[in-house]
Amino acid sequence: MEATSKNLTSYLKKYFGFDQFKGQQHEIITSLLNKEDVFVLMPTGGGKSLCYQLPALMSDGVAIIVSPLIALMKNQVDAIRGISENDGIAHVLNSSLNKSETKTVMTDIKEGVTKMLYVAPESLTKEEYIDFFKSVKISFFAIDEAHCISEWGHDFRPEYRNLKSIINKIGDAPIIALTATATPKVQEDIQKTLGMQSAKVFKDSFNRTNLFYEIRPKVDQDKQIIKFIKQNDGKSGVIYCLSRKKVEEITQLLQVNGINAIPYHAGLDAKTRSKHQDMFLMEDASVVVATIAFGMGIDKPDVRFVMHYDMPKSLESYYQETGRAGRDGGEGVCIAFYDYKDIEKLEKFLASKPVAEREVGMQLLSEVVAYAETSMSRRKFLLHYFGEEFDDKNGEGANMDDNMRNPKKMIEAKDDAVIALNVVQKTNQKLKLNDVVNVLVGKETSITKSYNLSSEDFFGIGKAKEDYYWKSILRQLIVRNLLEKEIESYGVLKITKEGKDFISKPTSFEIAEDIDFKKLLSEGS
Ligand code: ADP
Repeated sequence: MEATSKNLTSYLKKYFGFDQFKGQQHEIITSLLNKEDVFVLMPTGGGKSLCYQLPALMSDGVAIIVSPLIALMKNQVDAIRGISENDGIAHVLNSSLNKSETKTVMTDIKEGVTKMLYVAPESLTKEEYIDFFKSVKISFFAIDEAHCISEWGHDFRPEYRNLKSIINKIGDAPIIALTATATPKVQEDIQKTLGMQSAKVFKDSFNRTNLFYEIRPKVDQDKQIIKFIKQNDGKSGVIYCLSRKKVEEITQLLQVNGINAIPYHAGLDAKTRSKHQDMFLMEDASVVVATIAFGMGIDKPDVRFVMHYDMPKSLESYYQETGRAGRDGGEGVCIAFYDYKDIEKLEKFLASKPVAEREVGMQLLSEVVAYAETSMSRRKFLLHYFGEEFDDKNGEGANMDDNMRNPKKMIEAKDDAVIALNVVQKTNQKLKLNDVVNVLVGKETSITKSYNLSSEDFFGIGKAKEDYYWKSILRQLIVRNLLEKEIESYGVLKITKEGKDFISKPTSFEIAEDIDFKKLLSEGS
């Protein structure tokens, strides 16, 4: 089918009632209809579903949509059925269907009635289904929440890893992969695993210009929270905690302080959860204290603040959760409380996990620490994490975080930047960030021993300064693209071309003096 601009828009109107495409939807859909593989990175709420739903409705055959969550699939199918007279237009195929239901699904597909088939990855692997899919026309495969493929993501699902081989067995059809949380590392992993390196990549900006980001040390935390809520009386907000117990505790604390708060976590029964959700939506309660169970599918546009009682386990989660503030484009204050001790607790928890999971978990946590401790533009840091450049002087939202509002003292660190880069080079670009720091401050570890580094003249070359200072220099070198973390080797630092240029011809390298939260807290308490 030729996808002219005009008929695409008329289909959009006909099926969804919208007059215009959002963001890059039009280009994405055109590419897919032209049988190209497509990779879509869009923040939550960007309008990803439509990118496969509309072309599915316009194409011959059935689109197979892989999604990890049965509840989300059901929601989508119900919504799609609302736009057609025939319920067969969309189906879910999973193990909960009985024989006759499965037969109905298959008949509808064979007769060309079904345009979209939602499947969980584990259902797709069944031999009998594979044989069936071979016998029908598949318009394309859509892989939703594609980051689940990557062990480097925050939500790895092993069943996703086999998708490509199953798709190959079924036959040749384009693939559209979609995700809201792809760092460059995860993106590369997804494309490689799905064999779609030459896919067209569409990436929306992740910059949420109306959100204000702030990190506070955990000092008198409960008082700080109560004070903030009282100052913002009547505004809706969410407070995320890592445990159910904490959720209950904080809810009570707020209630006795006259704040209209309710709890939300997976330990509450379904009825209570849905009641609390409604209370929040209908503004019978202004604050929800919740675990991460809260938020899937929550679309309250005027959430004015999101607080993290504890730092989340990854910046993906942080971005996702803070992203629930200010969806209407209005005020959205995001305050997270940071204490390095919490990170150590999470690390201990990871220690009992299998090696691969542990390493990734640690890596994700180290990014959280870097974000919390940095003195640079938080927006720039976050966007860099998601592979996006941001101009922290003139970019939209440049002034919208604690560091940029109250800048820390800047210092010239050109010489130290060169020293750090030289150490990376002289150790043959084999070390990870913490190991480089240890070499700089002259701390013997099993790694420095195994490479015999203590006898080198650069060992301890930076010992006049503390390790957190060097960490901050190295983080800045990464953020400014003079160093990069290699993906395959779990974060070994490599010097980029810009880094080499910098060594031979150093330019000004100003950094803000990073605060050492560990010190701050021990002094304060
Ligand atoms: P995502 O999956 O990226 O989080 P959704 O597909 O759930 O986003 O879409 C977010 C919202 O945007 C939905 O309410 C959807 O109806 C709406 N939407 C999608 N495309 C358009 C469009 N072209 N015009 C107006 N609203 C749209």
